[in-house]
Amino acid sequence: MAEPLPLERYGVLFVLSSPSGAGKSTIARMLMQSDPHISLSVSATTRKPRPNEKDGVDYHFVDDTEFDRMVAENLFLEWAHVFDHRYGTLKASVDTLLGQGKDVLFDIDWQGAQQLHQRAGSQVAQVFILPPSIDELRRRLKKRASDTEDVIAGRMARARAEISHWDGYDYVVVNDDVDRCFGDVSTILRAERMRRRRQTGLIEFARELMTD
Ligand code: 5GP
Repeated sequence: MAEPLPLERYGVLFVLSSPSGAGKSTIARMLMQSDPHISLSVSATTRKPRPNEKDGVDYHFVDDTEFDRMVAENLFLEWAHVFDHRYGTLKASVDTLLGQGKDVLFDIDWQGAQQLHQRAGSQVAQVFILPPSIDELRRRLKKRASDTEDVIAGRMARARAEISHWDGYDYVVVNDDVDRCFGDVSTILRAERMRRRRQTGLIEFARELMTD
């Protein structure tokens, strides 16, 4: 998957969304590990870090005042309330990655996917990952034996709400087998890279081919 890109092109803004428990983070990690041409957009959030998370790596963790300032200064390409917190994609990080000739991977929800499409439609490719069944999703969301029925029901309700937005996406992949799902997502990325409108080097290349 890591062969050099033949021609100059615009980067793909590659959005992965799914309800939690559908395996999106695993697929995102597999993509990043297998492909040096794509980098993750690190979002800002007002949510508190989880024990294994690092500031600047998983998210830029900020407080409400800081987030308000970032909104006022128009630093976000998109931002949204997701559950009880705010999350946003920083314009500057995306521009930096695109400037380095990278494709950019976004792990954002349907509201972010929609806003990104409104802002940069022709550069965006959106993939939605679905769990193979509701039973499997419930199994994956029952992380700890100590979780109460209420906690699990809350997670299921959030997952169902996210799933209801599946029809706003360009591609939908069912994750019944993680390797197959990863293969499908990689194929989508490869095809998106070859879209004619992204390949800015084609005009010169084709001109040369047409010259005697
Ligand atoms: P978590 O708190 O579990 O890391 O993420 C919760 C949800 O917020 C996930 O669905 C994730 O995709 C979404 N999310 C993370 N960053 C962003 C962002 O920058 N913008 C939007 N719109 N959603 C985000």
